[in-house]
Amino acid sequence: MNLISKRIKGMQDLLPPLSGIWNAVEDVLKSEASNYGFSLIRTPVLESTELFQRSAGGESDVVQKEMYTFDDKGGRRVSLRPEGTAGVVRAVLENGLHNGALPLKLMYVSSCYRYEKPQSGRLREFFQFGAEVFGTESALADAELIMLGNSIFNRLNVQDISLEINSIGCFECRKRYIDSIKIYFEKHQNDLCETCKERLYRNPMRIFDCKNSRCSEICKNAPVILDYICDKCSNHFSDLQKYLSDAKIVFSINPSIVRGLDYYSRTVFEFVYSGAEAPITVCGGGRYDGLAEDLSGVCLPALGFGMGIERLLMVMENQKLNPVKKSVPVVFVACADDTARSFSLDLTQKLRQNSINALVDISEKRVKHQMKYADKIGARYVLVIGSDEFKSHKARIHDMQSGVNKEISLGKNFVSDFIDIVLQNY
Ligand code: ATP
Ligand code: MG
Repeated sequence: MNLISKRIKGMQDLLPPLSGIWNAVEDVLKSEASNYGFSLIRTPVLESTELFQRSAGGESDVVQKEMYTFDDKGGRRVSLRPEGTAGVVRAVLENGLHNGALPLKLMYVSSCYRYEKPQSGRLREFFQFGAEVFGTESALADAELIMLGNSIFNRLNVQDISLEINSIGCFECRKRYIDSIKIYFEKHQNDLCETCKERLYRNPMRIFDCKNSRCSEICKNAPVILDYICDKCSNHFSDLQKYLSDAKIVFSINPSIVRGLDYYSRTVFEFVYSGAEAPITVCGGGRYDGLAEDLSGVCLPALGFGMGIERLLMVMENQKLNPVKKSVPVVFVACADDTARSFSLDLTQKLRQNSINALVDISEKRVKHQMKYADKIGARYVLVIGSDEFKSHKARIHDMQSGVNKEISLGKNFVSDFIDIVLQNY
């Protein structure tokens, strides 16, 4: 085929039936978050580049290498959002939502863009379900947010997900820690990958995020952040663990989680799927108490997570989970000749007005072809309407499963008669 232009690398079309699964999953995500008190927010896909430089951090991989950045026609430097949090924080501050009731809970489903090397579970356009909480420093909020993540996996029946948590302390405790890991990584400098050699001087904590196996090996014996955090941060982390244990949520402490974006402080966590060949991080999040202040001078402690929807669907496919309640057409109204077209359209419409999934012929092909089509799309009943049926106001309804035909009146009581016949068999 000579299609003039093809899909952009790293971007996907979402096609049926996967689109149906996607929709059902999105419904579960939103309804579970809504049970926890989250309201929906939508922010623009484009933000000023500066926002991401300030939030994710100029040294982060996301900002350094992965952003889609360009000048718009008015000469503004803009970027496609690489993640959801920064735009939401900006929107909260710009619209003064922090002046209303706090804590404030917001959720979103946003497309994100990162110029990464496309591979399984790593796309250039992907979707994040995000949940953010503003206006509380309490570890209860951290516990509750993690409980939301946990409830989502439970509601979707996803197994083999483990929760890993860590605390990266506040900016004060991190200063001492960074000094000590600099000394440690300098000793192993020659074995680090080229990127990590640079990270060593610019932002050594990023080394923990490296996917290179040699760097990961070196990270295993590096000083542990938890040995450097101050009493306040340490108590906060203990509180979180207590609340999680009390809620019977299983977790492990993984001191190497630092997260890919610079704005995190104190709690960081990931939900990791271990049932595939390599572990898949489906959801990552944490606290970012200093971000709002950094962007606006307003003190607004906050926390949140981002769940990669494509990765969640990969895991669900791996476990053969399908949350879609099968919605095959209950009835297909076939039309035998032109005199009955408007009549069959009208009958079908009456069924739909009563929430019955009903399709009608729109191809103008022969009845035999229409019957084949009804069979292919899995319609349970077929009603053939022609000029005779139109005149007599009676037709036969054909049960495609049992092969049984029943007479049905097409008059005033058509819908209730139809429901009677269908309910007998459903
Ligand atoms: P990773 O370590 O896998 O690169 P990350 O730390 O860059 O992840 P975050 O910025 O925390 O990821 O994003 C939150 C979630 O978004 C991830 O856990 C993942 O599920 C999803 N995600 C991130 N990048 C991609 C991508 N390029 N393609 C698909 N999903 C992604
Ligand atoms: Mg990444």
